[in-house]
Amino acid sequence: MKEYSIEEVSNIVRPQLGEDIPLTLYRILRVIGMRKILGETSGPTLYMMGKQVGTMIGAKDLGDFEAKIKELKVGIPEVQVVEDDHVVVKLYECITCAGFVYTGEMFCDMESGIIAGLLEAVFKKKAKSTQTKSWSVGYNYCEFEVMLY
Ligand SMILES: [Zn+2]
Repeated sequence: MKEYSIEEVSNIVRPQLGEDIPLTLYRILRVIGMRKILGETSGPTLYMMGKQVGTMIGAKDLGDFEAKIKELKVGIPEVQVVEDDHVVVKLYECITCAGFVYTGEMFCDMESGIIAGLLEAVFKKKAKSTQTKSWSVGYNYCEFEVMLY
């Protein structure tokens, strides 16, 4: 199976419809479709997928990290460096869960992976991101604890 580059998938010719899609379509694919097909493995799969995306895109520093997350409309990030190896990222207007009703479970695995992938590029260390807050567990933002090692 052929692997495609960011350049290849970015070549969009849609003179009437443009580059944007309804967020509802994205969420149907992401929250309904992928979970239905992948089941319990959807979380780890989406995390790995997000991490790959973050690594491919990359970020030079924390300012660039915030710009990339916003540019991709993944959300509006707020970064707090707690310690050398510990970063907390709050994500407002999360692409996947902003506005979601309380369900008692968190599922922003792709976003978590994208954050980890980009932060690996910023800190030149391995990163493991864990989601700790979400609209779906009663907050009005998402939060990720990132350990660097
Ligand atoms: Zn979220």
